[in-house]
Amino acid sequence: MDAARPIIPSGFESASSGEGAPRATPVMEQYIEIKAANPDCLLFYRMGDFYELFFEDAEVAARALGIVLTKRGKHLGRDIPMCGVPIHRADEYLNRLIALGHRVAVCEQLEDPAEAKKRGGKSVVRRDVIRVVTPGTLTEDTLLNAKRNNYLLAIARARASVADESRFALAWIDISTGEFRIAERDRAGLAAEIARLEPGEIIVSDALYGDPALAPYLRSLPAVTPLPRDVFDAATTERRLAVYFGLATTESFGTLSRPPLSPPVREAQGATLAIDQATRSNLELARTLSGERHGSLLAAVDRTVTAAGSRLLAQRLAAPLTDPAAIERRQDAVEFFVTDAQARAELRARLAAAPDLARALARLVLGRGGPRDLAAIRDGIIAAAGIAAELEKRGELPADIAQSARALRRLDPALAHELGAALAEELPHLKREGGFVRAGFDAALDEARALRDESRRVIAALQARYADVTSVRALKIRHNNVLGYFVEVTAQHGERLMAPPLNTTFIHRQTLAGQVRFTTTELGELEAKIASAAERALAIELETFERLAAAVTAAASAIKEAAEALAVLDVAAALSQLAVERHYVRPLIDASLDFIIEGGRHPVVEQALTSDGAPFVANDCDLSPPPSMASGRIYLVTGPNMAGKSTYLRQNALIAILAQMGSFVPARRAKIGAVDRLFSRVGAADDIARGRSTFMVEMVETAAILNQASERALVILDEIGRGTATFDGLSIAWATIEHLHETNRCRALFATHFHELTALAARLPRLFNATVRVKEWEGEVVFLHEVVPGAADRSYGIQVAKLAGLPPAVIERAKVVLAKLEAEERASPRGFDELPLFAAATPPPRPPRASAAEGVIAALSALHPDEMSPREALEALYALKAKAAEGDR
Ligand code: ADP
Ligand code: MG
Repeated sequence: MDAARPIIPSGFESASSGEGAPRATPVMEQYIEIKAANPDCLLFYRMGDFYELFFEDAEVAARALGIVLTKRGKHLGRDIPMCGVPIHRADEYLNRLIALGHRVAVCEQLEDPAEAKKRGGKSVVRRDVIRVVTPGTLTEDTLLNAKRNNYLLAIARARASVADESRFALAWIDISTGEFRIAERDRAGLAAEIARLEPGEIIVSDALYGDPALAPYLRSLPAVTPLPRDVFDAATTERRLAVYFGLATTESFGTLSRPPLSPPVREAQGATLAIDQATRSNLELARTLSGERHGSLLAAVDRTVTAAGSRLLAQRLAAPLTDPAAIERRQDAVEFFVTDAQARAELRARLAAAPDLARALARLVLGRGGPRDLAAIRDGIIAAAGIAAELEKRGELPADIAQSARALRRLDPALAHELGAALAEELPHLKREGGFVRAGFDAALDEARALRDESRRVIAALQARYADVTSVRALKIRHNNVLGYFVEVTAQHGERLMAPPLNTTFIHRQTLAGQVRFTTTELGELEAKIASAAERALAIELETFERLAAAVTAAASAIKEAAEALAVLDVAAALSQLAVERHYVRPLIDASLDFIIEGGRHPVVEQALTSDGAPFVANDCDLSPPPSMASGRIYLVTGPNMAGKSTYLRQNALIAILAQMGSFVPARRAKIGAVDRLFSRVGAADDIARGRSTFMVEMVETAAILNQASERALVILDEIGRGTATFDGLSIAWATIEHLHETNRCRALFATHFHELTALAARLPRLFNATVRVKEWEGEVVFLHEVVPGAADRSYGIQVAKLAGLPPAVIERAKVVLAKLEAEERASPRGFDELPLFAAATPPPRPPRASAAEGVIAALSALHPDEMSPREALEALYALKAKAAEGDR
């Protein structure tokens, strides 16, 4: 309720021109002009201590925020809908609007109302939009999640797409940390990268947004903003980048309003383990299927003590590496802290006290910082120096750690000194509150403050004197924003002050129900003196702030590198903490196709069980190529419901992810030939949100695997074929296994309740049967969770149903039906053995070579004239001509 504005100041009433239609007031004219320049944003329009929204904006915001919608004045004879939020709570409301997908333009008063008055009575305070707040451009801690990056991603068709229409160029930045990366991907890769980055906001050209092939996908994503296509013009953007980085290094220009971006790093295709959206959610990497962080792999392995470390860990988990040498470098760093427990403890204690340097820096460089950000830089520099010194004592350091220590050393301690000397002990949130510069730092400031405080003492003395002169004990000198300083007495004494002789000193200002208020010449003069001293003090403080922020900006690249180094150290120490705590081992990673896990455990289930006191049963897995064979194995895992099949499948996928992100793994021993793509699918997953049938989803996802997985992939298929009739499902599962074995030739784990499939092992040399053991004991099943070679003898479905509490009558009846069905099956078996062997390895015949004319037509239809620069269009024309010429030969 506090957001409704109580007083309605003038300015919004229609100025009536005497007769005829009312016209817009000057304030309204200003509003309309600014709103027209920001049509796609809600406009936060600064009016004194409030941001106000008008017209449709007010209606949208009032509904979204649950605040009161009122009226303010009239426009063209109609009431103007209005709502407002107090500036001290603006962040909170902004947060909610941004989370709901709105964009907000913040329009500030650019001058003091007094200045406007000097230009004449009718002048309007100058206002303009100082910032457009969108989900991808946030820097405020209150609007951001400390543990996650917040990316702004731009997507364009790749330049080479004249020839190949399905290549996309991606560029993403996190302006709150300065990270800047670029990549080129195909259509599937595009979706996988978006799933990995989870950008806060995506910008695309309006041409791409309107592309029929892409539109449904783009529209299914949150916070996609289409922009005019010339924003994406290659030549212009290249020039903009060159200018940006050129100026950033010379520091000759107003760098203050630019985020401290690093030069873009190119992410090569194949450098990271490709994991698509379905696999990520299915394996619950960053959050569980129900959307929470708790219960995810990330939450289970995160032992970082800083926000930056937590962000880096999430990044690495989302994008494990494929190059064994790069993985080993990370492992060396983890091993260092596993071996040296004291170094780990020391480092973690120091890190825990270090601030979030990267985000404080970004705010200061962007001109959005406050005094506490300066303090964060100071504390960060001090912490960095301490950590570097501590590490250097340890002698020989692994490469990643040595490199981090060097980055920490590059920070200039003089900057911390300068900041330390200037900043007070207690710091306000906002610089405009003042009081953040230490007493004794600046003589002029001390003088202005003394004057301000002295005047306050003079006021107290004046109050005592006035009480004496008037003989009113209860006389008070008070202050408010409307009257400034005033003398206040109760109503019964008011008369006396208004009568001679006192009325020569006391000038009446206001009569309220219980009080009467006066001013005096002396009080007026004092007030001016106090105000000017306070103003001068604040001006000096703000000047000091800008000077310190400029010093920080000048050191931005060193500070950013140090911030990154702290995150690298935090992650290394955190992963070693995890390894020691949970008995993880260093896996061997190489370029082979091996996959040997001894005594593997599920990192999340294990932790959940141990906290209940139950032991987790460790299991082996070997998907390496069998002796004298070139490709890896497929495990066909059978066993009753609840035996532990899904857990076993997933733990092996999670171990591969942990291993390739550079972590140790929950196993006794592990050797993994680097995996290039990871797929995980579960049968009959519901996807009601996108309105597809569960079986359809299952098949779409299985198709993606069979079309994409190559020899180096790891595929996890859990109960595929469950979503349809038994024979359909069995047939699809059957054919899928054959395809994986003969065509994809990848390492795979396939869990199934179709026992018939175990017969395949006799015919497919790299298919192995495994089963999760159960014991029958006095008519009950006991789950042993132990994976052993062989096939399950039966499904124990009825026993599991009994465990679940199905009524005894139903259980008994089911047993009778089962016995009859089994007897029939024995009498005439289904005879899968007679199926002819799989023949998909021979691809269908290729169509005859296309004629030149067809080639030209195909190339033409792949062109996107709207997205091409004139020069690209000309190049495409030459290419077409060359193609046509081929036909003449
Ligand atoms: P299935 O897929 O065979 O139906 P799940 O993998 O879902 O079985 O496992 C069922 C439950 O058994 C899990 O929730 C887990 O608590 C427990 N479980 C599975 N594997 C193990 C194991 N190796 N050690 C201990 N408990 C396990
Ligand atoms: Mg299961």
